[in-house]
Amino acid sequence: MRIKTVALVLFFSVNLLAQNTVPKVYENNETLTYHELINAYTQLAETSGKAKLIEYGKTDAGFSLHLFVISNYKEFSPKVLRTDNMRIVLINNAIHPGEPAGVEASLQLAAQLLNKDEAISNILKNTVVCIIPAYNIGGMLNRSAYNRANQVGPKECGFRGNARNIDLNRDYIVCQTENAQSFTEIFHKWKPDVFLETHTTDGSDHQYALTLVTTAHQDLPPSLGNYLDSTMRPQLYSMMEKKSDYLMCPYVHVWRKPPDAGFQQFLEIPRYSTGYTSLFNTISFMTENHIFKPFADRVNSTLDFMHCLLEYTNANAKQIAELRTQANNELKKQNDFVLKWKIDSSKYDLIQFKGYEATYPPSRLTGEPLLYYDRTKPFTKKVKYFNHFNPELTVHAPKYYIIPQAWKESIKRLKWNKVDMKRLTEDMVLNLNMYYIDNYETTNKPYNGHYLHSNIKTNLKQMPVQFHKGDYIVPVNGKEKHYIMQVLEPQAPDSYFAWNMFDEILQSREYFSPFVFEERAIHILDTTPGLKEKIEAAIKMDSTLAKNTYRQMRIIYRNSPYFEKTYMRYPVGRIENKMELPVIDEKDFE
Ligand SMILES: [Zn+2]
Repeated sequence: MRIKTVALVLFFSVNLLAQNTVPKVYENNETLTYHELINAYTQLAETSGKAKLIEYGKTDAGFSLHLFVISNYKEFSPKVLRTDNMRIVLINNAIHPGEPAGVEASLQLAAQLLNKDEAISNILKNTVVCIIPAYNIGGMLNRSAYNRANQVGPKECGFRGNARNIDLNRDYIVCQTENAQSFTEIFHKWKPDVFLETHTTDGSDHQYALTLVTTAHQDLPPSLGNYLDSTMRPQLYSMMEKKSDYLMCPYVHVWRKPPDAGFQQFLEIPRYSTGYTSLFNTISFMTENHIFKPFADRVNSTLDFMHCLLEYTNANAKQIAELRTQANNELKKQNDFVLKWKIDSSKYDLIQFKGYEATYPPSRLTGEPLLYYDRTKPFTKKVKYFNHFNPELTVHAPKYYIIPQAWKESIKRLKWNKVDMKRLTEDMVLNLNMYYIDNYETTNKPYNGHYLHSNIKTNLKQMPVQFHKGDYIVPVNGKEKHYIMQVLEPQAPDSYFAWNMFDEILQSREYFSPFVFEERAIHILDTTPGLKEKIEAAIKMDSTLAKNTYRQMRIIYRNSPYFEKTYMRYPVGRIENKMELPVIDEKDFE
């Protein structure tokens, strides 16, 4: 790390007299293996006394997920630490093990924090640092010199997919991996105030070793969102400018075009880490190192940012706590939720951008122009940064959702996310609002192991529905409200419906045989007001219907009481108003 002043050397650097030393293999363009990494953390925990390596649940590779906790007061209970008004910072590494800068930086950070350097350990006065050394253990074990085609070192690294080839940075809502289930447990046990996940990215060339995704502030309750946007984020940038030799800019979100034409803020939806963690009012960031910078620079720039983030959190511990409490209260009172945003391409900020001139020489393969960057021609100029978004889908929160107990996959995930649910103590018919799925699109190839739905259109119908003892009532009034809305409103981009947890409703189960149905069909046609007109209108749209007996019968069948009401009906009901319901807590339910 190259630091500008002597004072900062004292602040940032490892104390040479310290007892805790860890390997610095990144200086030789290498990264530790999984076992070397866990050994290093085990030794740190054993020698320091102020740290603990805790094993949580399993990962798909069979190994437990580790959490390394650094606590100045040797207190390791999250409950006690929160009571003691400590801020909790959670750092997640190696979600993509081919991007290990954060793995190395976190280990150095841990060693520095545990050394007896007063300036550094001051950071721990009001802050507890929790590090997941390696989230994607399976990917880390799948090590090769060929896992990253364009990356400048390390010589060998892990692979993006986990033991089941799942991209864990799309799995925060579905939690189909044991890795994600164990992360969810850690997240809700520790309830971090601040979250950081470390990555490395390509897409374009520029001068920055480090780029930063700051969670979309408009998705947070106003007090916390405004604070992040107008105070914390700008201050982190200015701290980096003062204290680090490495440049940092917003994540350069472009693909196959040069960034000087302008680029937009990366908007994370809940399947991504920061999109998920911010649903619970955790202030969230992703570092995205630049793939073309030397590995040691990527490690050191990430380490510098970690120091800035911790120093800031420690210095502003009281304010962050107050704002998060305020945000939770705002969330409880919030009635309308934006579940999808779209970019406002008419608005942008101008940012000073340090890039390289783009050139388009002919490809040696095809002779066609190919985008290159000329590193002999660096520039600094103002570039349009599109970071304004408008609501695309806003939904009013009901007072409760009701989920029939049969839909276990969604109920399980709500429980993992500590959503407080009650259970009906008796069978009852409720007159409530139910969604029908009018339209949806489905990927024609698997996406992270799922045939994900998108562009979901619904209509809401009020109707009586039979529910049974044991069905789940989900009150929409706590600080989990935003999470509940994002997963239970079917149109949301990462709803449980979108992720195939309700696909059974998309197929009808009953049908009719035309040769016995005709007489009944004619009777239905004669006695159902408006049905004849409906068929006539359909014939006007498609004349072949006039001579198609089966299709005419199908229209009649679908408009008759014989047609199943549950076809295309999303089974989770919306209870719009507060009401007395016969319910008890899950723990008391027999
Ligand atoms: Zn990544």
